Amino acid sequence: MAKTINLQVKSDFVKYFKSGYPLINKDAIKNSEVLKVEGTIIDLFDDKNQFLAKGYYGTQNKGRGWVLTRNKQEEINQVFFQGKIKQALDYRKALFEDPETTAFRIFNGEGDGIGGLTIDYYDGYFVMSWYSEGIYRFKDYVIEALTNLVSFKGLYEKKRFDDKGTYIEDDDFVAGERANFPLVVKQNGIHFATYLNDGAMVGVFLDQRDVRKTIRDKYSEGKHVLNTFSYTGAFSVAAALGGASKTTSVDLANRSKPKTIEQFSVNGLDYAAHDIIVEDVFNYFKYAVRKQLKFGMVILDPPSFARSKKHTFSAGKDYPDLLKQAITITEKNGIIVASSNCSTFGMSKFKGFIEKAFKASGETYKILEEFSLPNDFKTIKEFKEGNYLKVAIIKKES
Ligand code: SAH
Repeated sequence: MAKTINLQVKSDFVKYFKSGYPLINKDAIKNSEVLKVEGTIIDLFDDKNQFLAKGYYGTQNKGRGWVLTRNKQEEINQVFFQGKIKQALDYRKALFEDPETTAFRIFNGEGDGIGGLTIDYYDGYFVMSWYSEGIYRFKDYVIEALTNLVSFKGLYEKKRFDDKGTYIEDDDFVAGERANFPLVVKQNGIHFATYLNDGAMVGVFLDQRDVRKTIRDKYSEGKHVLNTFSYTGAFSVAAALGGASKTTSVDLANRSKPKTIEQFSVNGLDYAAHDIIVEDVFNYFKYAVRKQLKFGMVILDPPSFARSKKHTFSAGKDYPDLLKQAITITEKNGIIVASSNCSTFGMSKFKGFIEKAFKASGETYKILEEFSLPNDFKTIKEFKEGNYLKVAIIKKES
């Protein structure tokens, strides 16, 4: 690896690094022209040439790398990576021992001390996601650490490092033995058919584990549940397992229908007793209003940003409107599950959206429960953006 290079931090940004902020922003660096080879180790200095932190160079959106240590003497080598991964594995000990949960996150980027890298566990298989070419240069260290620390069946990877962080098509298999797909995993006893070799989305979002359990255990019984932006129908399955009288899943992607059928089937549920609709959610809302449909629970889990033929949806701007439409078709005393993974706003702004939507609808409500990321998606208080998930379970009172 190339030798360490020194970066000067602009004076306005020094305080962030001093207080433990881990992301090396493009705008924070005076001499970014010295950055040439991704993966290079960088030392950050303030304007008085005082050492601030050590990290690596990797382009990830506006980021130019991540802080790895604030100890100038610490070397970034195999021992460093193995230490962080060992600590992360120990932190998930209870999940490894939980027979009802066989898929979860074992390494969550900066939350576990190495930004730009996540590792997920799927019943004996590990999936490494690389968010920059820079972190990808440390691949051998990570593989060696996993080899030394766990006995895995196989390793897969996702390269998410073009300049937008989108997924690069590739054969995702890395080492060990290949899995047979679908690989059926569990979270709180709910089964999921996953495909680790089929693009960025493997079939389940692991971070909604607690929310799905709560929907199943506390809110579904006897309700007709509308699940919008349903993808593989994970929330619908949770609701059906919890005794929903019926679920209706709506997603505009064609693949969502066979994927949802599969998800019901691996849980021993009769998919034919449920509606699985391939359509733009915003059209479906109009249809539901026209037909005067009302639901006992409406689940909203839109992407942060989406463009369909007729609609552009941006969570930071359009969430109140989305909620308003959901409110219209929710029964009195019904439940709205509002979820957002948009990292540009936090829970308090999200609650503001909820207040705004109910006010505009002339309805009253009560937030019954709130969720953020589950404990395996470890975050640090110095990096609020990392704590992206916000879920509110809301009761429509009027
Ligand atoms: N709730 C899902 C994850 C949602 S991912 C789960 O628990 O697994 C976001 C989904 O929104 C994608 O499947 C995408 O196809 C869908 N989507 C995006 N815009 C949409 C629109 N306007 N109407 C319906 N679905 C949409």
